[in-house]
Amino acid sequence: MALQQAPGRRAFLGTAAGAALWLALGGMPARARAAQPAPAFVLPPLPYAENALEPVISASTMGYHYGKHHRAYIDNLNRLAAGTGLAGLPLEKIIAASAERADAVALFNNAAQAWNHAFYWHSLRPGGGGTPPAALRPHIEAAFGSVDACRKSLAAAATGQFGSGWAWLVMDGGKLRVVRTTNADLPLTKGMQPLLTIDVWEHAYYLDYQNRRADYVEAVIDKLLNWDFAAQNARV
Ligand code: FE
Repeated sequence: MALQQAPGRRAFLGTAAGAALWLALGGMPARARAAQPAPAFVLPPLPYAENALEPVISASTMGYHYGKHHRAYIDNLNRLAAGTGLAGLPLEKIIAASAERADAVALFNNAAQAWNHAFYWHSLRPGGGGTPPAALRPHIEAAFGSVDACRKSLAAAATGQFGSGWAWLVMDGGKLRVVRTTNADLPLTKGMQPLLTIDVWEHAYYLDYQNRRADYVEAVIDKLLNWDFAAQNARV
């Protein structure tokens, strides 16, 4: 099913409509199946096995992070959206409609976290890290001076985010930037195009690294970052 496919495809990337194809997370209308309608939102499959990111991220962490936390955001979203007319809409639409609305905080948080986690899984890959694709490097050098400086900026944002949140490489007005967001917030609400993200909620690393967030961040950047995904999202 198209909605279940991995997002690493140039065709979808960077477009709200395209992103909706994979981030709608089963955004097909609920339909009768036997006696029970299918949920409007479904947990998208991981793009790799739960143990594929070892030893940087253990299968145990993935089991909880994907299987419990990500699933809970989807389950909450189904509960919150039921009967509102929002069920099954692309997550971007729910995020845009609920951002900064005091009466829709839970809806925003769960829709945004569903989007963020799907994006995070694709921001990582087994055997990642290394050198970004040649098409992306001039943009990195223009913005940061060097690939190494870009990595350091991302690491500083991820390590320095106080409490729960996310570090992002984004395209902002045609220029690359590193930004960080708190809790469920994401660059989409600020008009920026996310290219990559690192989850720095404690649930992302505590089983493997305990309080050593900097070690998790360094290992993710060095060994897991999916620079091809970033380049595709940047459309360079
Ligand atoms: Fe998380």
